[in-house]
Amino acid sequence: MSADTNATPLFSDLQLSSPLLKALEDAGYESPTPIQSRMIPHMLAGRDVVGQAQTGTGKTAAFALPLLMHLKAEKPVHPQILVLAPTRELALQVSDSFQQYGRHLDNFRSLAIFGGQDYGVQLSALKRGVQVIVGTPGRVMDHIRRGSLNLQHIHSLVLDEADEMLKMGFIDDVEWILEQTPATRQIALFSATMPQSIRRIAQKHLSSPVEITIETKTVTAPTINQRYIPANGYAKKLEALQRLLEVEPFDAMLIFVRTKLQTMELAEALADKGYACAPLSGDIQQANRLRTIDQLKSGRIDILVATDVAARGLDVERISHVVNFDIPFDAEAYIHRVGRTGRAGRSGEAILFVHPREQRMLGAIEKLTRQKIAPMDMPSARAINEQRINKFKERISGALEADSTVFQTIIRDYQQEHGTDPLLLASALARLVHGERPFLMAETEPRKEKMATTAPRRAERPSSRKETGRPARTPLTLPTDEAKERYRLEVGLRHGVKPGNIVGAIANEADIESRHIGQISIFDDYSTVDLPYGMPAEIFRLLQKVRINERPMHLSRIESSGQTGKRGARQGLTGRKNTGGKTFHSRAKNPGQGQQPA
Ligand code: AMP
Repeated sequence: MSADTNATPLFSDLQLSSPLLKALEDAGYESPTPIQSRMIPHMLAGRDVVGQAQTGTGKTAAFALPLLMHLKAEKPVHPQILVLAPTRELALQVSDSFQQYGRHLDNFRSLAIFGGQDYGVQLSALKRGVQVIVGTPGRVMDHIRRGSLNLQHIHSLVLDEADEMLKMGFIDDVEWILEQTPATRQIALFSATMPQSIRRIAQKHLSSPVEITIETKTVTAPTINQRYIPANGYAKKLEALQRLLEVEPFDAMLIFVRTKLQTMELAEALADKGYACAPLSGDIQQANRLRTIDQLKSGRIDILVATDVAARGLDVERISHVVNFDIPFDAEAYIHRVGRTGRAGRSGEAILFVHPREQRMLGAIEKLTRQKIAPMDMPSARAINEQRINKFKERISGALEADSTVFQTIIRDYQQEHGTDPLLLASALARLVHGERPFLMAETEPRKEKMATTAPRRAERPSSRKETGRPARTPLTLPTDEAKERYRLEVGLRHGVKPGNIVGAIANEADIESRHIGQISIFDDYSTVDLPYGMPAEIFRLLQKVRINERPMHLSRIESSGQTGKRGARQGLTGRKNTGGKTFHSRAKNPGQGQQPA
């Protein structure tokens, strides 16, 4: 395949400044995605661009990085970059990405403005000064009309998901905003599809734009059986992977993730479960990488967790399974990944985890490979238990073939001394071998993810929470819903926080569907929120840094001394002064369930 021989593009070849390179290093990105390596040089040169690319291709960094290079250090700070996005979720996501890539720049601030949020908060943030505004068209127009958003210093404008803005009826607003910006500004237009009206806008407002489309080349081998599992977020993917490892008869498995950091975290998590597993990423020295690959070939390792770059061209016949833990950035990368199995004329299995948001990428892959990828259910507890029983029986058969004279003597003696029933005796030995952990999995089936039932992203999603209006005085208790844990966020009424801001931030960042976000209580200085039990450490760390209304939420888990086990005591929870607050219940919950305000 062609990419097997291609040189890997590097961020350091893209003329980006060291604060930006450092932020990419922090993010664990190994190399630019196709749209990034193709688009960044043109944008750095100041060209207008049209990118036909979908979410998941890394398009945000493709425009954010070059635009950040063009920022001028001015005081007072004026908005210099304006991004228009169709939905509040996307606006928050893009603004957070700017914040992430600009984290080592002095005094850098990016702000998301969208309908449904208090004007007060946006006005004060605008007054303080920000370099980047990411907004939904309606609210951006309002601010321009009120005079609270001055576009005089805007040097770059991005229209993100232009076809979505068109579908949602924003296109006139978008054109109006375009006309308010200085004629000299650089424009980047992104759209997954290119309907006529988007082409017309490009022709009218962009000056000789460079067009970049992420396209297609090869196909997958017919001997590779391709399936996908809908998996909504990291926790679900991890569960799906663990179940697959138990039921899929695999020789060697290659698991693809997006970042170097993830290769290590996931490999560690699997090694903890007893799998012979290693990470493979560009961070690992060439000599060690070769050793790891040899270990995979010889069977000393069965699972590799890799990034695209590190696994490029990998040719190991034993690889019977490729698992796309994270969906690839483009359909072509999918083909390269999947091509790591079914080598030397063998058959292979490719399993892809797909978040409902990534459905379009799934469609693009199917289109490119001209093959349907069949949905599969997450392996059931029953199937897993069957496998566990079969494997255990195989171990017994194996042990019966080995020499066990010493044990035979001991067992015969034991049996004569105690007169124990041979079945009971054998069962006791089986328990000894297996240990104290339960042998079978509880047969509660995992909830099926349905791709079609995910709520469509809308511009101003109405809050799904009802305000009870009664002040809560004892918020720092644990949730009554056993499947949830209560968390504290260091943002409250004083910071203008509304439940929608909390839901938006958490749903976007942690990939938790909003219906899994439980009760929210907002107090003067802080808030509490109930989230599904057992949040992965990676997501917890990520949420620490997420900002709500421009303030980091500093998430912390609330544990009280009244509870046992993992939820044991932690200091600092009693004696906090709680002023009146408000409690909100999620629509999904039974009324009356959850904590009621005192
Ligand atoms: P986007 O298409 O901009 O929504 O990006 C999709 C996801 O890819 C985001 O979670 C980004 O953080 C991540 N991402 C973007 N560029 C890279 C890269 N070069 N390497 C690894 N991850 C990336």
